[in-house]
Amino acid sequence: MSKKLTGVSIIIDEIFADVKKKFPEVDARLVPVSMKSFMLSSPYSNIIYYDPEQLNKYNFSRKALTGMIAHEFSHKIDYKRMGWIERLLIKWKHKRNFNFKRRLEREADMITIDRGFGKELKQSLKETESKFEEERFLRFKTTHLSIKEIEIRMKKGSND
Ligand SMILES: [Zn+2]
Repeated sequence: MSKKLTGVSIIIDEIFADVKKKFPEVDARLVPVSMKSFMLSSPYSNIIYYDPEQLNKYNFSRKALTGMIAHEFSHKIDYKRMGWIERLLIKWKHKRNFNFKRRLEREADMITIDRGFGKELKQSLKETESKFEEERFLRFKTTHLSIKEIEIRMKKGSND
């Protein structure tokens, strides 16, 4: 019955446990699934989904994976702040409303930086740019913070 772990599955649990230490108020667990994206934070449960096949395909570094997982934890922080009706509509709005999706992704990026994962987030963005097909990266880029915006936010944090 036991499936041999390969590639990213070997290190992902370890990285997840490390990131989790900086999000003590978030109850989350990691579940592998097959889907179109790398990772997804469910608004309705404590699950963070990841697709081992997708992550292996792009061969992300440990640092980039750390940034991605921190971003998913940050979504959970954001969801916690929402009222239940707003939360209920997330999935529906995420698909149909570009500005809503953009606001959600950028908010998660900002929380990621504020929790001390700015460098890792930057790395995941850099690797995403170099590994993604151009069209896919452009779609990604329009909804997330840019390298420059990440750097500005990191500086702001260190001066506080
Ligand atoms: Zn996200």
